[in-house]
Order: sequence, then C-alpha cells, then structure tokens
Amino acid sequence: MEKLIDFINENSLGSLKENVSFKTLTTYKTGGIARLVVFPKDVDSLKDIVKYIKENKIPFKVFGNGSNILASDNDYNGVIIKLTSLSNLEFKDGKVEVEAGYNFALLSNNMSKKGYSGLEFGCGIPATVGGAVYMNAGAYLGDISSVLDKVLILDENLEFKTLEKKDLNYSYRHSIFMEKNWIILKAYLTLEKSDKDEIIDLIEDRKRRRIASQPLEYPSAGSVFRNPKDMYAGKLIENCNLKGYTHGGGEISEKHANFIVNKGGATSSDIKFLMDLAQKEVKEKYNIDLHREQELFNWE
Ligand SMILES: Cc1cc2nc3c(=O)[nH]c(=O)nc-3n(C[C@H](O)[C@H](O)[C@H](O)COP(=O)(O)OP(=O)(O)OC[C@H]3O[C@@H](n4cnc5c(N)ncnc54)[C@H](O)[C@@H]3O)c2cc1C
Repeated sequence: MEKLIDFINENSLGSLKENVSFKTLTTYKTGGIARLVVFPKDVDSLKDIVKYIKENKIPFKVFGNGSNILASDNDYNGVIIKLTSLSNLEFKDGKVEVEAGYNFALLSNNMSKKGYSGLEFGCGIPATVGGAVYMNAGAYLGDISSVLDKVLILDENLEFKTLEKKDLNYSYRHSIFMEKNWIILKAYLTLEKSDKDEIIDLIEDRKRRRIASQPLEYPSAGSVFRNPKDMYAGKLIENCNLKGYTHGGGEISEKHANFIVNKGGATSSDIKFLMDLAQKEVKEKYNIDLHREQELFNWE
C-alpha cells in the first residue's frame, strides 16, 4: 500500500486519505476502517491508478455516496476509489453529459429548475450519478434508465468505451454493471422541455411525501429490500410485527418497515441482524423470499 501511495503522490494522480472509517463513507454511518481512500484527479489518472492496483493485486472498490452499501465492521485492507473530482456537467437543449461523481439529487434539482423533465424522481435520492446509473435508481415509477442514452466506462481491460442503453440490461434496480467490473465515468441523458412550475410543484410534493413516510432523520440506506411483484416489502415486514424492532443501535424503522435505521451507535452487525430477521420472518409467515436492494461490502 505504501508503494501505491508513493505512486499516486509522485505522479500527481489525485489526493488520498489513509485509514478512513466507513462511518464517513456510507449513509448508514457504520463499519470498520478502509486502509486507503483515493480521489483520482481525472479519468486518465483513474486509469493509471486502477492499472497499478490491478497489476499489484490490491483489492479495490468504487464507492459513490455509499447510500446503498452496508460495509461490515471489519477493517478493509484495500482501496476505496471515490470519483468526487469527476463532477463536470454539460447541458444543452435537454441533452445532458454528466460525470459519475456529480450529486444526483442536485442534478435532478438543477434540471427541474431549468424546466426540463425526466429526473423529478431523483430529488430525494442521495446518490452520485455513477451509483444511480449502476443501481438504476428510481422512485415513483421513474428511473434513470428511462432518460439515459449511453454511458462512458472504463472496462476491465482499462479501455474507455461508450455503451448504448440497449446494451446495459436495465430493469427494476438492475443493470449490467452489477455483473461486470466496469467503472462508470459519464452518463448521457435526454430530458424533455416541460412546464417549470409544474415540475417544481411535483418535486415539492414528492419531498413532502418522503418526509412524511420515510425516517430521513436517522442514517439509513433507503429501502432495504426490493418489492416482490405486486407487493410492498415494507408491508410484509410490518405484518410480521417488526416495525420498531430494535437490535443494538439499529431499528426496523417505526415509520417505514422497509428502512433499517441507525438510531445511534449501531454497528453494521446490528443492521445485518435486522435484515436477516426480516427475511426470516417474512419467509416463515408468507413463504416469500425478500431480496436485498442494498449491497453488503467486505463481509466474509
Ligand atoms: C434516504 C435514502 C433514500 C433513498 N431513496 C432511494 C430511492 O428512492 N430510489 C432508489 O433507487 N434508491 C434510493 N436510495 C438508495 C441509494 O441512494 C441508491 O441505490 C443510489 O443509486 C446509490 O448511489 P451511490 O452513489 O450512493 O452508490 P454507492 O452506494 O456508493 O454504490 C452502490 C453500488 O454502485 C457501485 N458504483 C458506484 N459508483 C460507481 C461507478 N462510478 N462505477 C461503477 N460502479 C459504481 C458501487 O461499487 C456499489 O456496488 C436511498 C438511499 C437513502 C439513504
């Protein structure tokens, strides 16, 4: 790891931080320590860093805002790559080119204020553009794949490629990125010109609905489980009398049973315990398998 640090510094490839808690890297605010976090300064520096990491067989993982990740309480002797510096946005007549590190909720708000429709669903999603493209983030029947044209990536052979949406296997909270070791660098979107006041009213309405129905006052990572077909995971969990169930510092939210929240001092193991419990109880009561929407990282 020391050699990687020297390599990055000597070649001015970006900035880095050593021994960073996953409490600051994830919205659950839980987890162990990451040995190194790297912030490449541009895409060519990213490529050089990933090349070095791969050649030296150092474990690594790209993190967006960590808003869909439960990192274990174990320390991680690898590298977390954050694309914070890739945050350029270009916009003309509804055509958007936006880099992976751009704040997704901010993008939604910016485009809405310009009177362009298609990203209203994103106003309450605390993601990066890269994380949203990876997860096919969505809400209220909208998702990013509906407005996406193509994506610039760095592939597993360290080649830059532009991929069309039709080749990205998008479906509900799913994309091809989940099966590949590709790094998302930039998204190309097309938005429709629409009535600005109507868009802003819609966004305000959705914000109110989120505040009323979701426990936004506590750290979480949004919905824990995918909704089974024609059902709500939260309703199934609630029907198992698990709303408000606590374990350590974690709680199956009293407000919304498909959220697990960190009420203060929760460990990742507390959160995982509650995930497993909800899955077990729903299986026993309804014979339904709940599938996690959230990703476990650095678990044995
Ligand atoms: C309060 C709250 C509300 C939420 N509401 C919603 C909602 O309404 N709808 C919804 O869909 N989600 C929601 N989420 C979940 C989360 O915001 C989304 O899943 C989001 O897309 C994750 O983005 P991220 O940047 O945080 O990615 P991360 O959580 O950091 O990463 C998720 C995955 O994406 C990968 N990844 C990230 N960036 C890149 C990249 N550049 N290249 C390759 N891989 C990458 C990571 O390796 C990881 O596998 C919510 C979360 C919270 C905390």
